[in-house]
Amino acid sequence: MIDPATRHDAIADLWIADGRIRAIAPPHTIPAQPQAIELALDGCWVTPGLCDPHVHLRDPGFPEKETIPDGLMAAASGGFVAVAAMANTAPVNDHPAVTSYMLKRAREAGGAKLVPVSAVTKGLRGLELVDFEAMARAGARMFSDDGAPVDDPELLGRALRKAHLLGFRVALHEEDRALSQGRGINAGQIAARLGLEGYPTVAESARLARDLEIALRWNAPVHIAHISAKESLDIIRGARECGLEVTCEVSPHHFTLDESAVIQWGTYAKMSPPLRSREDVAKILEGLADGTIDMIATDHAPHDDMSKEVHHFPHPPGVAPLPQPLLEHQAQAFERAANGVVGLETALGLALELVHRGVISPMRMVELMALNPARLLGLESGTLRPGAPADVTVIDPERTWQAQPWRFRSRSRNTPFSGCVFKGKAVLTIVEGQIVYDELTVGEKGA
Ligand SMILES: [Zn+2]
Repeated sequence: MIDPATRHDAIADLWIADGRIRAIAPPHTIPAQPQAIELALDGCWVTPGLCDPHVHLRDPGFPEKETIPDGLMAAASGGFVAVAAMANTAPVNDHPAVTSYMLKRAREAGGAKLVPVSAVTKGLRGLELVDFEAMARAGARMFSDDGAPVDDPELLGRALRKAHLLGFRVALHEEDRALSQGRGINAGQIAARLGLEGYPTVAESARLARDLEIALRWNAPVHIAHISAKESLDIIRGARECGLEVTCEVSPHHFTLDESAVIQWGTYAKMSPPLRSREDVAKILEGLADGTIDMIATDHAPHDDMSKEVHHFPHPPGVAPLPQPLLEHQAQAFERAANGVVGLETALGLALELVHRGVISPMRMVELMALNPARLLGLESGTLRPGAPADVTVIDPERTWQAQPWRFRSRSRNTPFSGCVFKGKAVLTIVEGQIVYDELTVGEKGA
């Protein structure tokens, strides 16, 4: 049993009743319950349910990429009990009716729980704030224009204050688009070899510095989405020293891959922010270990192959390296291709790799993937404390498995981790006492 909220790390029995954690006790000390189901979980880690503060479920609007039911099943099979669904759907989640639709569809679907993220501005256009109170009443638990930065500093200040008054945070996608030009590859050696224009780290760090100054001005807590640049870590440390409450997340692709992955994976390694240099990755790993980074977020971004423009390249992603430099039509296709990778079904495997490599401890991993994201979203879960909702993930840290995208529960396959062999997997996911994913008692097919 690993519970960072109580620093509990011991072999124990867990008793769940009526959707809540009833007790944690030394082995064989909980009296037998007449109608209880007993599960022997020898060799497994029992952790508070994993929570992903940043996913794109594409619903409403893009069923060819993902739907809420498929996304929530993908989440459950990756060990997640809750996911925060970003607002860049069609229509945008900037109106209570959209939030209500998402929550209703999630309730009917099963799988992980959906936590709605409201847009900050109407239509994500950066011009007019949504009705924060109405969105919160409808069930939104965070505010973000993710995918688009909030360019107007005055508007951003107002948004931060409104969210703060309601007890929620704004999650910021930090990008100065005048500097990034919306490019999908790091400005560096690989971009030069491919003949592509790059997205420099300063486009992230300069905007981050500005936004933290604004947050400091209003003393409003803020959350920073998917940081990728080493400079961003120092900026966040500096803001904390000034007393700002700032949390931040990093995505598994940014702590695992560097910009060279684009050569093998083409547009399957294209995301915003882009994969960075090896040096950036090394600093991100330091930040995960030393506490600068608060949580892991997949930024699960499903896309069909048409949106990824894969037909413009000579080989399917991952099969052979891209031509260097790219031909003109290939370079144009790369720039046109949608940003993002799926992540819900590989995140835990990639985080466990850090544990096996000794970068982080199991306790720290659970803090990064369960406790801290639950706190960010104001959820009661994230701990195994008696009385908490029975949102639980069971991880077999020794189970080896291979990422086979054609078997993903997600509707999309856009991953640069196809074929990776992982050690460790979620084998049981429990949401409010109900088993929503089961690879333990019913075999690999799952519930
Ligand atoms: Zn983003």
